[in-house]
Amino acid sequence: MSYCVNCGVELHPTAKSCPLCHTPVVNPRHPSDEQIPPPFPSHREEVPPVDRRELVLLYTVLLLSVSLCCGLLNLLFLRTQRAWSLYVIGAAVTLWLWFVPPLLHRSLHLWLRLALDTCAVGVYLLLISIDLHGWDWYLQLALPIILSGGLLTILLGLLLRGHHRSILTSITLIIGALGLFTLSIEYWVDRWLFGTFTPGWSVVVLVICAAIIVPLIVIRRTPGLREEARRRFHL
Ligand SMILES: [Zn+2]
Repeated sequence: MSYCVNCGVELHPTAKSCPLCHTPVVNPRHPSDEQIPPPFPSHREEVPPVDRRELVLLYTVLLLSVSLCCGLLNLLFLRTQRAWSLYVIGAAVTLWLWFVPPLLHRSLHLWLRLALDTCAVGVYLLLISIDLHGWDWYLQLALPIILSGGLLTILLGLLLRGHHRSILTSITLIIGALGLFTLSIEYWVDRWLFGTFTPGWSVVVLVICAAIIVPLIVIRRTPGLREEARRRFHL
């Protein structure tokens, strides 16, 4: 049994140099034995990455079979007044639109992907509104909220992606976007219910968001505090 003269690690009989510090092994009493199989494999092998087209096929088949089964069950056996299978099919279409296009086209622009995600949510709620005969609430309430949320998400995505943002800046932007989204929800709900907008509960949320954002900006701008936050929260 040999040990490395430099770092003291135990050496395998076949070792010609230390695996840790690469110091050559020179031991006249125990010359390296070529006959013993080495402890590590001589060549490197890697698990091949999953083919994205196969993954797309798997997702598609999975979602299609769930939709078909529910559709047939709804049509043939569980016939109720509500077309409940529409909800499942809508969810399947939404999931497909969320996950498959980014897998098929890796170079798809972020804003295009987020716009597609927003459209998928819009289509899903459209199916629900068809089932509930809720064309009015869809056009005047659901669609504006989805569009506001989608627009904010696209803006947020572009802002976060544009430059290499620190975690503090990202958190600040996300909280700001959430505050604005809450305000837009109240705006559209008020317009739908009363026809006018009176700021209420969303202002409370907005104030709380601002109360979190201001200290975050102060921490971001003060080098000493920024370092402390980095150390404490492992940012
Ligand atoms: Zn060594």
